Amino acid sequence: MDYTFTPKQVRCSCSLTHSHYTRYIAAGEGLISKVNEAVADVLKAGHVALCYMQEDEGVAAQASDILVAAGYKVTRIYYADGTEPTPDAAEDIINAADSIRAIIFIGDSQLCDIAKYAASKKSCEWIYLPTTPDVAHAFSPIAIFGMGIGIDCIMCKPAISVIIDDNIMKRCCGRQIAEGYGNIIGYRLKCYEYSYAVRIRGADYCLAGIRRLGMITDNFLNSDNVSAAAVARASVKIGLNNQMYKLDLMCNSDVVARVIAACADEGRSIGENMPIAAYVLAGLYAEQLNMDKFNLCIPVDRVGAVNELCRLCGNDKIAAISALKSIDNHAKEWYMLSEYRQETQADLDKYSAHLPHASRIFRRLYDDAGYWLSKYGSADKFISIGRSVLNARITSVVESAV
Ligand SMILES: [Zn+2]
Repeated sequence: MDYTFTPKQVRCSCSLTHSHYTRYIAAGEGLISKVNEAVADVLKAGHVALCYMQEDEGVAAQASDILVAAGYKVTRIYYADGTEPTPDAAEDIINAADSIRAIIFIGDSQLCDIAKYAASKKSCEWIYLPTTPDVAHAFSPIAIFGMGIGIDCIMCKPAISVIIDDNIMKRCCGRQIAEGYGNIIGYRLKCYEYSYAVRIRGADYCLAGIRRLGMITDNFLNSDNVSAAAVARASVKIGLNNQMYKLDLMCNSDVVARVIAACADEGRSIGENMPIAAYVLAGLYAEQLNMDKFNLCIPVDRVGAVNELCRLCGNDKIAAISALKSIDNHAKEWYMLSEYRQETQADLDKYSAHLPHASRIFRRLYDDAGYWLSKYGSADKFISIGRSVLNARITSVVESAV
C-alpha cells in the first residue's frame, strides 16, 4: 500500500474546519486482496452486494472469492456493457435482499453513480474498486443521471472507501487513461470557473480549496508520468479535495462536455470530451473579458440558447426551458466584471496556460494518435455549443435521494 489519505480534518484560513466523508483510500499493487479489510471497516460480517460491469467479471470473481473466504455472504449483480447510469439501473441493487448492508462496486466512475444512488436508497455504505483511472467522481456526493442538458443531479453519498489496484490499472488501455487525463485538464480550467463564481458572482466556495485544486492539477499536468496509476492518484486527490471543500458546482465545462457527448453520438465519454470543452470555453472566456459592450448590461437570449441546445442534443424543449431559474443579478455581474477584469484575466491566463501542452499529451494517449478527434466534428459547432451553454446559464438543481 503506497498511498493512504490523512488528515481527516483541516482547519482552514476561511475560519471553517473542512473534513471528508471517505474514510479509507489505498493504492498499490495487488490491493484487491484487501477488499475484505475495506468492507470490514463498515461491516464486520453479514450480507454484501457485489456490483460490477460485465467486462470486469474477472476482477469481480476475485473480489467475491476473497469476501466469501472472509465470511461474507455475497450477492453478485452485474451490468451489461453499455449500461447507462440511471435510477432504473440502480433498482436491481435497491430491490435486492434487505439484509444487504454494504455495496461494493467494480467498474468505471460514470457507472458508479448507480451504486452511489442505491447506497443512499438502502441507507448503507458503498465501497469502490475502480477499473479505470478516472476516479474523482466517486468522491462526489452527487449522482448525475441523464444526457445533454436534461440531467438530474441527486444528492447521495460518496464512496466510504476506494481501493486502487495497480495491477488492474496496468491493464487499462490508452483511451481509458485519456478519459482520466481529459478530466484533469478540465479540473484545471474549473479553477477559473470557481474563482469566477466567487469573485464575480459572490458564490461562497472556499478559496483555499480552489487553490489546492489548482496545485494538484498543476503538479500533475507538469509531471511526465501519465501512466494509469499516476492518473488514478491525481484523480483521487482531486476528488477528495473537491469533497472536502464542497466544490460541487456543475461547471460550464461539465455542461459543454455533456452536450458534446450527447450530440456527437460517437460513444465518447465525458472525460474524453472534456479537453474539447475546456478549449472552447477558454476561448469564449477570453472573448468575454475583452468585450466592452458588456458594460451596457444587455441580457442574453437564454430561451433561444436553450432551444438551440435542445435542437443539438435532442432534449425536451419545454422541460428544459421551464427548468431555467431566473437570474436577477445580471447587471451586478457585469459591474463586478468591469471592476475585477484584470484579476479575472490573470486567473484565466493561469488556469488555461496548460491547454496546448496537455492536449498534445492527451492526443498521444490514443493508439491512433488522436485520429478520432480529426473526424469528430467541426470547431465551429463546438464553439456554438459553448456559446449556447454560456448564454443559457443552466443551473442544475440538486435533489435529495432520500
Ligand atoms: Zn476553507
